[in-house]
Amino acid sequence: MSTDARDHTLDHTFDHSPGHSPEQPGGHVLDDLLSRAADLDANAPLSGIRDRFTLPEGVIYLDGNSLGALPTAVTEVVHDVLERQWGERLIRSWNEADWWGAPTRIGDALGRLVGAATGQIVVTDSTSVNLFKALMGAARLRPGRTVVLTDPDSFPTDLYMTDSAARLAGLEVRRVHPRDAVRAIHEAGDSLALASYSQVDYRTGEKWDLVSITEAAHAVGALACWDLCHSAGAMEVDLDAGGADLAVGCGYKYLNGGPGAPAFLYVAQRHLADFDQPLTGWHGHARPFEMGPSYAPAEGIARGRVGTPPLISMLALEAALTAYDGLEPAQVRAQSLSVTEAFIGALDALGVDLPLATPRDPDRRGSQVSLRHPQAFAVVQALIARGVIGDFREPDIIRLGFAPLYVTHVDAVNAAAHVQAVLDGREYERPEFAERGAVT
Ligand SMILES: *Cc1c(COP(=O)(O)O)cnc(C)c1O
Repeated sequence: MSTDARDHTLDHTFDHSPGHSPEQPGGHVLDDLLSRAADLDANAPLSGIRDRFTLPEGVIYLDGNSLGALPTAVTEVVHDVLERQWGERLIRSWNEADWWGAPTRIGDALGRLVGAATGQIVVTDSTSVNLFKALMGAARLRPGRTVVLTDPDSFPTDLYMTDSAARLAGLEVRRVHPRDAVRAIHEAGDSLALASYSQVDYRTGEKWDLVSITEAAHAVGALACWDLCHSAGAMEVDLDAGGADLAVGCGYKYLNGGPGAPAFLYVAQRHLADFDQPLTGWHGHARPFEMGPSYAPAEGIARGRVGTPPLISMLALEAALTAYDGLEPAQVRAQSLSVTEAFIGALDALGVDLPLATPRDPDRRGSQVSLRHPQAFAVVQALIARGVIGDFREPDIIRLGFAPLYVTHVDAVNAAAHVQAVLDGREYERPEFAERGAVT
């Protein structure tokens, strides 16, 4: 069994790293770990789901939190969209193939994965643009309030968009770390309009408690907006049950919609009638084909739309979501925790003592494991050269994402062995790994 597990990935690379052949002590530890991992893979509820993806040979892909892998179903659907829906049926497809209804139809399909009942999610635009709509919409739902809270460690676009929306709406931005958010919410009191946080930190993979921050915001009459870029598709989100007011998230990370896939916007049912978002494009109009001179928002979440969506990407995302068919978010979360646990456990067992930026407590982590190393950039390059694709984040983070639908326990253990080999062999000191390109 352990032999199979090794064959499955990059055995040959270990041949070059002294200390890791099966005859040596490290090798026995690794063989044991691989054997247990193969058992876990064979018995996991998500066993076999990886076959729904097209993945390259010889690669352990740990960057699905940045660009998800290709679900095989997407290829066939995009062919049909190009050759039949567009090529043959031309403009008739707006009605025949319900291109017009795609943003809300796909929003409903996605809602199942983030705990949102139908009619509250629209798939459209980028996360940045949707966050802007949510921020301005929140300011208009809470007129007279002057403060918005957000995380100083947010993904930069969230900070940039929040600052600009705040300038437009006359709000003061207070950057307060999520661990102190509840206290800051109470301090702001009835001047608080919105608490806007990510559920999972993109850099450290730390998961924050959606419910307690949302409840604190509600206790002072404010709203809560959640960025789900690093949680949607990897865990239960429970937007409705958690009382979230607004949320945004990404289509091309764990949801595997493909490069540049449209993002999504959630507005809780109770706010929809009053949700007044600032980007009043014709696709969000109540009667777009009357071509009237003034704007009237559509009923429901369709008012979150702006202009003509990128249908090829949109329909690719719809096909990608079928990779979740038959899976419950709780099963996906269980697999995610099991695989990240296997990775952390293997690092420990192999004696890799890099500091974890990600909490070991499973309740407090998302689906990635981030390690700190002073030469993190070069370590990541050395891992990529071995076929282990993760990414670097400033200033010292080796970020490894474990997309639960296609990263196996065997992948996780092999990845840990590669980390060990890169560190033991000081491969990160090679000059070719020091060069930073424009894209990291
Ligand atoms: C990936 C990510 C984004 C991406 O924004 P786009 O506008 O879709 O490029 C935004 N916010 C967070 C927290 C992210 O992780």
